[in-house]
Amino acid sequence: MPYKSVVLVKQVPDTKNITGEAMTPEGTINRAALPAVFNPEDLNALEMALEVRDRHGGEVTVITMGPPGAAEVLRESLFRGADKVVLLSDRRFAGADTLATSYALSCAIKKLGQVDLVFCGRQAIDGDTAQVGPQTAEKLDMPQITYAEAIVKLEGGSIIARRALDHGTEIVKCSLPCLLTVVSSANEPRPASVRRRIEYKFAATSLEYKSLLARWPSFGTEEALDAFLEQRALKIPVWTATDIGAEEQKLGLPGSPTQVYKVNFVVLEGSESKVVDPTSDGIKALIQELMQEYIVG
Ligand SMILES: Cc1cc2nc3c(=O)[nH]c(=O)nc-3n(C[C@H](O)[C@H](O)[C@H](O)COP(=O)(O)OP(=O)(O)OC[C@H]3O[C@@H](n4cnc5c(N)ncnc54)[C@H](O)[C@@H]3O)c2cc1C
Repeated sequence: MPYKSVVLVKQVPDTKNITGEAMTPEGTINRAALPAVFNPEDLNALEMALEVRDRHGGEVTVITMGPPGAAEVLRESLFRGADKVVLLSDRRFAGADTLATSYALSCAIKKLGQVDLVFCGRQAIDGDTAQVGPQTAEKLDMPQITYAEAIVKLEGGSIIARRALDHGTEIVKCSLPCLLTVVSSANEPRPASVRRRIEYKFAATSLEYKSLLARWPSFGTEEALDAFLEQRALKIPVWTATDIGAEEQKLGLPGSPTQVYKVNFVVLEGSESKVVDPTSDGIKALIQELMQEYIVG
């Protein structure tokens, strides 16, 4: 049976490459100073959705909410195998906390019509709340399987999945439609295919036409570029708040009940240190001590 899947992906600042300018004096992330990357666990979510499509048929639509530049993760999704992509971009989405983000994403999913599976990463490496997946499921009135590591069985209207927990795994069964938040141990995301990279090289949103024309002036005018992309199904749709039928007061800052009150910089310093003999006996004694203190077990 073919399944219609949606994957929610986020473009995030690469927090593995922190430089001195990574934070603003106000304590917020200086996004301009960090390279933007595909949120790592969203690649695992995309891979899980692609595997479902490859095994059972159906289609995979990838949605991201972000500024015009977030189209980059949508192109990357096309290179890796997604069938359709959508960018949610509108000034009215700006300043959203997780509630307003999940509201906008749930409106976009509803616009797609009947959906069997929604895949999210477990957590984004910048906001780090792991709230967006569960909140989106709530707003869609869908059951959710968090920390999903594998789909054990997908048959008709139900799914059996393995969840990765701190001290083991859990197998759960759930009816469809359902939302899964996927962990990094789930799979090895497939790389971008060279054939698809060539095929979707020019895939773009209308918000990128100016920069595209600056790079490839031979396209001529924005109208000519638009016709070229439309004809080849390379135009990435951009949905605004109006397009997804969202209530404005539930979006962006007005729709965000949480406010950042204060940001503290925490510097972790070792308070105690111990020198251990680099011998088997020295290491054995250290391990015993750590076990006695319940630090390792
Ligand atoms: C009080 C507060 C104020 C904020 N103000 C701002 C602000 O002014 N400007 C700003 O840019 N950010 C702001 N943020 C951050 C913003 O709310 C989060 O980036 C966003 O809600 C996602 O939360 P997260 O990063 O914790 O994602 P998580 O909940 O950790 O993400 C889990 C998964 O949800 C999906 N997901 C998350 N975000 C998106 C997305 N945008 N598109 C598609 N899928 C997604 C992905 O699959 C991801 O792996 C604010 C956050 C808070 C708490």
